[in-house]
Amino acid sequence: MTTINGIELEPCPFCGSDDIGYDDEYGRVICECSAGGPFSTRMQSAIELWNKRTPALAPGPDYTPDAVDFMAASAMDAAQEKETK
Ligand SMILES: [Zn+2]
Repeated sequence: MTTINGIELEPCPFCGSDDIGYDDEYGRVICECSAGGPFSTRMQSAIELWNKRTPALAPGPDYTPDAVDFMAASAMDAAQEKETK
């Protein structure tokens, strides 16, 4: 876990690496794989923006295999219903 200014950085959402640093020149958090976080004029908010994850990119407890199966089954049902009409 990388820490900058006492704030723990989440691993890279693209490659999962912990080798993350702050790019002073551009004002953003950047990973060894060249993935960069959002730009900010303040280091603290650049770090906070890096740590901010959207649910779609970071599957949480709601996205259990059962939930995914359920969603897939629902989509199949909907598709079949459309075909029979
Ligand atoms: Zn990365």
